[in-house]
Amino acid sequence: MKRVVFMRLCHNVVLVFAALIFFFFFFNFQYYHQEIPPVYFLLGLTVVFLLLLVLLAIGEISSRNAFITLDRETETLRLKIGDYKLEAELFVALDNIVEVFSQEPDLGMVISRVAVSLRKLFRGETVLVWVYSGKSSSTSLRVVEGEEFKMDEEVIDEVVLRGNSVLINNLASFSRYKNFVEAGFVSILIAPLKKRNEVYGLLGVFCRSGRNFSSKDLDLLTVASRQISLLIENADLLDKTKLLSLTDGLTDLYNRRHFQEVIETEIEKAKKNNWKVSLAMSDLDYFKNYNDTNGHLAGDKALRQVANLFKEGTKGSDTVARYGGEEFAIIFPNTTKENSLKVCQRLGESIKDFKFPNEEKQPNKDFTISIGLATFPDDATRPEELIGKADAALYQAKKSGRDRVCAAR
Ligand code: GH3
Ligand code: MG
Ligand code: MG
Repeated sequence: MKRVVFMRLCHNVVLVFAALIFFFFFFNFQYYHQEIPPVYFLLGLTVVFLLLLVLLAIGEISSRNAFITLDRETETLRLKIGDYKLEAELFVALDNIVEVFSQEPDLGMVISRVAVSLRKLFRGETVLVWVYSGKSSSTSLRVVEGEEFKMDEEVIDEVVLRGNSVLINNLASFSRYKNFVEAGFVSILIAPLKKRNEVYGLLGVFCRSGRNFSSKDLDLLTVASRQISLLIENADLLDKTKLLSLTDGLTDLYNRRHFQEVIETEIEKAKKNNWKVSLAMSDLDYFKNYNDTNGHLAGDKALRQVANLFKEGTKGSDTVARYGGEEFAIIFPNTTKENSLKVCQRLGESIKDFKFPNEEKQPNKDFTISIGLATFPDDATRPEELIGKADAALYQAKKSGRDRVCAAR
């Protein structure tokens, strides 16, 4: 800019000097040839000088106007560059986050990183990413980067129920956002998190200082909200896939592979904490007969029913798994043999009490189960040994008449 002013000045000065030299020689020539009297020569020179001054003034005014226009254009460009810089920084940040997520799919950690980046990029004091689990997502999280605050119900209505974005720079003039004003916020920028038009959360930047958000800021936050929605969808898919790999398709119980992992980790934990771990291995009585009498589909239904009774009859900390065809295993962490024996007896009773179709046609006139129990470290110190002891107890239960619980001794 300074360079342009200097060039313009030089240009004007050169013009004035060129004109002066031209007229000086012209009048000198006229004067020496006595064609005009000296008074006219001086008058002519003055007129020429004044004319030049007028020309110069016009030149200055037009160049000043050009400078003002140039100034405005520079400012617009500066703002545009700022916007592009913000855009580029946002894309780099989002790209890094997606990269991190692909290596370590821990959604909570990734969303925290998103919040940190957004806070920096939008120069907000507080960033909130809020996802509630529902039809569209099984994820539920609330990440606040900055000072914790209570979300305004009006904003939740606006964004989550109506699916609208919010950009407000003068919150104080909106009476319906009074909670936010009371919390000291001046400007807010919020975009909904959506999946196929259904809103299941929001992403917001909140400022207590006089930061003014632009519509460009909202566009960028919307881009970020779409990326976060994709991350959440991926995380949900991963959760589902992981769960599928751990569970049994027929009963939804944990599968044998997961059972194996849990028994090993629980025994390690028990060793460290000086706990007991009890293990029950169970097997339905005369199940082949049940299948033969009622068909395989009825057999499958009975297996699902037994699984439900097992889930209902145990604690969330216990692990119930389908060990084989009609064999179920239960891991009771931090539980003595005495206590797990009571639980197993109750489970056996619940199966006996449940009315399975055609159960009277079973050899023992009822649909029953046999259970074998062993406890770490009383009966075994290694996982395989514990499974073996529980299996041996189950064999005892079968041998001594079925429909009972036997504990290893
Ligand atoms: P026991 O009291 O000695 O355990 O007798 P059982 O008839 O239960 O024992 P056996 O091992 O001879 O039979 C187990 C049966 O379980 C055989 C098989 O058809 C049935 N079974 C295993 N998995 C499934 C399944 O997924 N669905 C159905 N319907 N039946 C299954
Ligand atoms: Mg069996
Ligand atoms: Mg059986």
